Amino acid sequence: MTTAPKPVRRVVIAGGGTAGWMVAAGLSKCLGKHYDIRLVESEEIGTVGVGEATIPTLHLMHEILDLDEREFIQATQATFKLGISFENWRNVGENYFHSFGKTGKGHWTAGFHHFWLEGRKRGLASDYGDYCLELRAGLDNRFALLPDNGINYAYHFDATLYGQYLRRFAEDLGVQRIEGKIAKVHTDAASGDVTGLQLDGGALIEGDFFIDCTGMRALLIGETLGVPYESWSHWLPCDSALAVQTTLVGEPVPYTRSIAHPWGWQWRIPLQHRVGNGLVFSSQHISDDEAKAVLLANLEGEVLRPPRVIKFTPGQREVVWKKNVVAIGLSSGFLEPLESTSIHLIQKGMTRLVELFPTDGIRQSDIDEYNQQAREQIEVIRDFIILHYHVTHRTDSAFWRQCRDMDVPPLLKHRIQHFSDTARIMLRQGELFAENSWVQVMMGQGIVPASHHPITRNMDDRNLADFLNDIRKDVARTMMKLPKHQQFIQGFCPAP
Ligand code: FAD
Repeated sequence: MTTAPKPVRRVVIAGGGTAGWMVAAGLSKCLGKHYDIRLVESEEIGTVGVGEATIPTLHLMHEILDLDEREFIQATQATFKLGISFENWRNVGENYFHSFGKTGKGHWTAGFHHFWLEGRKRGLASDYGDYCLELRAGLDNRFALLPDNGINYAYHFDATLYGQYLRRFAEDLGVQRIEGKIAKVHTDAASGDVTGLQLDGGALIEGDFFIDCTGMRALLIGETLGVPYESWSHWLPCDSALAVQTTLVGEPVPYTRSIAHPWGWQWRIPLQHRVGNGLVFSSQHISDDEAKAVLLANLEGEVLRPPRVIKFTPGQREVVWKKNVVAIGLSSGFLEPLESTSIHLIQKGMTRLVELFPTDGIRQSDIDEYNQQAREQIEVIRDFIILHYHVTHRTDSAFWRQCRDMDVPPLLKHRIQHFSDTARIMLRQGELFAENSWVQVMMGQGIVPASHHPITRNMDDRNLADFLNDIRKDVARTMMKLPKHQQFIQGFCPAP
């Protein structure tokens, strides 16, 4: 006879970084009335303290929480983000922009880039970026909120301030914060379930369901339940990062800069009050000290705090939900911040948990569904990140030659070949990055498709020229009406 699963009432979140507080805010907003939610964190251990660039999906998180955008921007010193400028990635001295939003207008048979490729062949098309508002506005340092989602944007924000903001939100909804260092994780001898977290001073925090947000330490899912970590270092050779904050020089631009180096890349994330900078690099190709010297030599503004080294292994836990523990955030896995996807994955972890919440007890079918979705989501993002490294013309260092020569996951290999042959991108349901993203990065990294969709040949020269010119003029007109980014922020959130 099978026994009925035990209902879940007491939820314990271990860790209060961005993951812990996003989960606390989301669960308390969606399910809070029915559960006792507690969060344990240690000020002495602190948080990873990075993670400041986001993607537009964060709007959904803020809609769920019903946050006021102005208040959020003021509280986190946020700026707006329209995309990422990739510099030196295809080759030294060659740049491209991966923007949010859409480029041009397509047809159900073929995306806009097919028409652009045909236009370029006939000498009728200008630069691909001329057909994308977010791209043009980004590079011209302009921004405004437009009606009907007329501009697709995300934010850069201060990670520490964001954590504090969400903490106030969650505590207002009844989440109880407990300060303390988890010294021991108790488990039930028979079932192996986690039963409680024992703090340094001896206090025991008991629960029915635990969310591991302890960062790379992975105290519950890794150390206690022993779920193995699957490394993706053979595809993503960077394993180290250096982070440093500087003063702002000039006005903040509405995009992240990603500047490739011979052994990794550098980020620059402008906020209202300072700039977040860092390097992501491969320790096989450069030492920490050399990387630090390069970073310090390539900064604008004054250093506010000395650089910190962060070591990581790109990859994912074999499962992220086991028994009565779900891992969300860095405890579940890590993909380097090239496309700013980690906060998005935290958000997906939270919303998926709300959808599959084991109110009436934990069932293996919910666990399997959660784990399957988590794996599918991270694997396509992983492939998109590998694409940036693998498709490059750079041969100037052992690092880039290794990235060019490596074997990539089968689906990515197929996608690169398919796009190179036909300009086609066939997405699977639920993928994070849309066709516009794949096209911008594939072409930006240097792929020139050998052919494109024949439907484009149905347009004669005049039709095609008019079609392309109308879009380009519309983008240019709208862009010129936008205020400068800094001017918009000052008007939207006047200093108190
Ligand atoms: P942490 O911030 O490490 O929090 C762990 C929490 O657990 C802390 O509160 C800590 O005190 C607590 N804890 C740990 N052990 C104990 C214990 N024994 N007792 C009590 N408490 C404990 N993501 C993006 O989306 N965009 C970016 O631009 C981006 N940039 C990044 C750059 C780098 C270099 C790195 C490494 C990551 C970046 N990320 C980015 C990822 C992002 O920083 C993380 O996903 C996010 O901060 C979540 O971290 P976390 O909350 O899982 O872990």
